[in-house]
Amino acid sequence: MSFTTFNLHPDITSAIAEQGYTSPTPIQAKAIPPVLAGRDLLGLAQTGTGKTAAFVLPLLQHLIQGPQRRIRALILAPTRELAAQINENIRALSRHTGLRSVVIFGGVSMNPQIEAIRRGTEIVVACPGRLLDHISQKNIDLSSVEILVVDEADRMFDMGFLPDIRRIVRNLPHKRQNLLFSATMPDDIRKLAADMLHDAVTVQIDYTKPVTTISHALYPVEQHLKTALLKELLASTETDSVLVFTRTKHRAKRVAQQLEHSGYPATCLQGNLSQNKREHAINGFRNGSYKILVATDIAARGIDISAITHVINYDMPDTADAYTHRIGRTGRVSRTGEAFTFVTREDSDMVRTIERVLGEELTRKTLPGFDYAKPNDSPAAEARPSQTRPHRSRPAPQQPTRGNRGTFERRTGAQRQQRS
Ligand code: AMP
Repeated sequence: MSFTTFNLHPDITSAIAEQGYTSPTPIQAKAIPPVLAGRDLLGLAQTGTGKTAAFVLPLLQHLIQGPQRRIRALILAPTRELAAQINENIRALSRHTGLRSVVIFGGVSMNPQIEAIRRGTEIVVACPGRLLDHISQKNIDLSSVEILVVDEADRMFDMGFLPDIRRIVRNLPHKRQNLLFSATMPDDIRKLAADMLHDAVTVQIDYTKPVTTISHALYPVEQHLKTALLKELLASTETDSVLVFTRTKHRAKRVAQQLEHSGYPATCLQGNLSQNKREHAINGFRNGSYKILVATDIAARGIDISAITHVINYDMPDTADAYTHRIGRTGRVSRTGEAFTFVTREDSDMVRTIERVLGEELTRKTLPGFDYAKPNDSPAAEARPSQTRPHRSRPAPQQPTRGNRGTFERRTGAQRQQRS
């Protein structure tokens, strides 16, 4: 399926292409047509499924015609981070349309928000508490709202925002389109949906549990020791192709370079690469000339290579869905993949979430012989970001230990010779 089937305005489709979206995700395929047709919608989906674009794209298509510089769409989100992320998504997808979006949340001064509202905007993305402050101070006119989106309604409920939402809704015109997204459906959300939505279409994206034959393990480790641990794991584990995930593009590039310096046939795949370099990386990984691919989530979307025996999460993914998506890259044919995830103290909430979603406790492992106590400034530790690195010569790249290096080199030596 392609985005062209939605007949979106060319100013929107060009931005979709610039974002690198080639085909709609399942929630987009299911939700966009009824929303374009003006229907109310109940979307049961988690973050990570592409649900933001599922409501942003039809919303932009609707707003591109009609009056400008009036608030015609209101999106409510439970946290600042989510509101800011939605706003960024809107800005990226609306960049050729001339439409404006303003984000409103607490913890920062109200004045810039008031000024942005006064300058005129078609879209407001807001957290409920601060929006109510603006409403009570009469800073904002919501009488032209045509579309209301409530995102992560279950989290709103957990955070005690449901009364605020009902209060905000009382300030909106009766006739409007309503879209409500929630990952789960507790009774209170069911009731809110019944009160808010009219003749709604329900779209559900089932959470798919990963294949059970993939074995998972968590490796607790300090941030600065991750690269050293990665090298030791690669040296001591029988692997075929290995996909390593990092959180940022920069880190994907750096980790791949560090592995290469240590003699591993590694390359990276991340959003900053030219199309040519991307293809070189994917083709090289597919044909085995690179045995290790270090990638970001988005870059690795859709990679389907049967030789992947190991997925290593160098950084914890942001959602349980992303975790499933990542580890689903292994165990595809042989069905005996292994997924290793490096976890730091900051990741404990996400570990709990993933374990809850998977319905199992993940095994914590330590690598025998690895020095977990190595201090941050040890020569073998990961280099710090350049702005904080003291001026001294770079440490020589760490070589994998002799004893266990053979496992990897024997399996990859031929390919490395081919490449050079
Ligand atoms: P969301 O669930 O909206 O937070 O989206 C998760 C991630 O998927 C975001 O980084 C989006 O930019 C990305 N995304 C959304 N739609 C698509 C698509 N059709 N193809 C590829 N990536 C997408």
